[in-house]
Amino acid sequence: MNNDVAVVRCGGYEYEIVRARLAEAIGAVGGLDFVRPGCRVGIKANLVAAIPPEGAATTHPIFLSALTDLLRERGAEVVIGDSPGGLYTPSFVDHVYRAAGLSLCEEHGAALNRDFSELSAVYEEARSAKTFTYTGWLASCDLIVNACKLKSHGMMGMSAAAKNLFGAIPGTMKPEYHFRYPDYDRFADMIVDLDEYFKPALSVCDAIVAMEGNGPTAGTPRPLGCILASPSPHKLDLVAASLIGLSPEQVPTLKAAILRGLTPAAVGELSLYGDPSAFADPDFETVAVRHSLLFRGASDNVIGSIFGGIVQKALDSRPVLQKRLCVGCNKCGKICPAKAISIVKGKAVIARDKCIRCFCCQEFCPKGAMRVHRTWIAKILTRSAKKPKSNT
Ligand code: SF4
Ligand code: SF4
Repeated sequence: MNNDVAVVRCGGYEYEIVRARLAEAIGAVGGLDFVRPGCRVGIKANLVAAIPPEGAATTHPIFLSALTDLLRERGAEVVIGDSPGGLYTPSFVDHVYRAAGLSLCEEHGAALNRDFSELSAVYEEARSAKTFTYTGWLASCDLIVNACKLKSHGMMGMSAAAKNLFGAIPGTMKPEYHFRYPDYDRFADMIVDLDEYFKPALSVCDAIVAMEGNGPTAGTPRPLGCILASPSPHKLDLVAASLIGLSPEQVPTLKAAILRGLTPAAVGELSLYGDPSAFADPDFETVAVRHSLLFRGASDNVIGSIFGGIVQKALDSRPVLQKRLCVGCNKCGKICPAKAISIVKGKAVIARDKCIRCFCCQEFCPKGAMRVHRTWIAKILTRSAKKPKSNT
């Protein structure tokens, strides 16, 4: 079967069930015939931070172990890796592997990446990322399988297949990329460039338990009970967004992919295995990105520019500190690409005039003390922009 996207029920993390459902999903989108005996397959997991599997921030180790077994049955050598936010060093990444439960994947025969080299790429065809630095282990793989987690995301609306490839950028350099691409559309275009450059042979998504709310690291686990698979990260994302009530307009990477013709704009235009509407969760709490993106056309003339500026201010999301949760560790200050955060009397303080709203502070605060604040008008628009519970 060669469907565009498969959505298969999987109610929990029992190994045998996950393996069977993952095999079903992969089989429904063309299978693993592209894996040749002896080839080295890199599983690009989502290992954003040192958070245990129950936190739903990382691709679950049972999901990764099942994927490892399916690939090894084909004779592949499997290596799992990612570059979490923060240091890209053996000790830091090992700490993340341990916290995320990846020793289980080693028991299933996967190697955990320990190549911490960095390489430079020149990518002439790119829209945004014509040159970039990436983690060298990906170049040592014959094939990449993108094994993502479905989560709400402060900056990009949603983290699933397309966003997962931002992990190709070494953790220490990620803030620099936020600074280089402060505009959300260009940032999304950069990510789509990375997807196109690395061209994963397959994308699979752990949406058995997703993350809602203050994602992608400090949100709340939310069971969706399904696994997604697709040869296209963007088609997978189109379906994933529909499950959590986001329209493509609310996910900048999807918008960018649609503009490039990498996916249709509606789930109904895809050939599907399984029924996404059976897993759609209308109450899933998202942190939709600032809606000023929807009003970009307003800045084509002076009046439009003034109007656009007012509208933008009224709609812009921003990071806000929940003081009682802040322990003054300054991890947000160290990662902030705009150097907008200082610690005053043991608490983080944001200089609003410097903030570029990249939400790195919200993503990497270990205490969940940074939240995405949406203005009331943005909240109303989010509600009205949410699609009805439907798979079209
Ligand atoms: S907001 Fe979070 S990361 Fe920043 S100082 Fe407070 S606890 Fe640390
Ligand atoms: S304060 Fe937070 S959102 Fe603003 S630039 Fe710094 S890391 Fe990004």
